[in-house]
Amino acid sequence: MPELPEVETTVEGLRSVLEGATLTRVEPRRADLRFPIPVDLRQRLTGATVTGLSRRAKYGLIGTDRGDTLIFHLGMSGRWRIDPVEIGAHDHLLIETGAGRRLALNDPRRFGSLDLVRSETWESHGPFTRMGPEPLGPDFTPAALAQALAGKATSIKAALLDQRIVAGLGNIYVCEALNMAGIAPIRAAGKIGRPRLALLVEAIREVLSAAIVAGGSTLRDYARPDGELGYFSKQWRVYGQEGEACPCGGTVRRRVDGGRSTFYCPECQK
Ligand SMILES: [Zn+2]
Repeated sequence: MPELPEVETTVEGLRSVLEGATLTRVEPRRADLRFPIPVDLRQRLTGATVTGLSRRAKYGLIGTDRGDTLIFHLGMSGRWRIDPVEIGAHDHLLIETGAGRRLALNDPRRFGSLDLVRSETWESHGPFTRMGPEPLGPDFTPAALAQALAGKATSIKAALLDQRIVAGLGNIYVCEALNMAGIAPIRAAGKIGRPRLALLVEAIREVLSAAIVAGGSTLRDYARPDGELGYFSKQWRVYGQEGEACPCGGTVRRRVDGGRSTFYCPECQK
């Protein structure tokens, strides 16, 4: 499943094709993904010029000179294909540029989404209204995290997955960061001291940054026709490593809560 680093890498890849480009063809090939695709999307985007691309949490934002911003989410299985040779059944949005480049948004499971909002109001749009700080941004500090977690009896793992506390973290990076910071996933969120929260903030930034760097190198490998953006393999510390050795020498365990796996090391995570 694409997480924040994959989305960041995807936006970076799309930027190389779309920044400053005029969209000569914008064609949704079905009416909906997880949610309906705006019916006027084709009309509003065709002929527009892309003015900038960015990311918020796990959403990619593509701004245009007409004051509209296309917002995409990759869901469980979405990815953009750059200059695909053939268009397949799971390519749900096609974009062509004046420079002759072609993009396809491919999403076999269709848990992703496409929306089009006015650029000046995107932050007040549904998913963004109550969203917490970006984990790689300047507002995600130990003090801010301590304030957000104050009095919370929920586990630290559940708290970090809550998008109101910090935006864009998913299961993989939460497991990895908690391991790096030496914090047990079941620890009550409101009872973790400031020094440990500082370690946690640092660990979150580090695991995400390392993944973005790894994704960037993968992106260079994919700089060829038929390139697919969105996924890359990484070496995890604990995620998916049940029974394997933790970097501390302990053994990684897995527990399942509400259908979600948590990977952790009981030796070094307290
Ligand atoms: Zn360990």
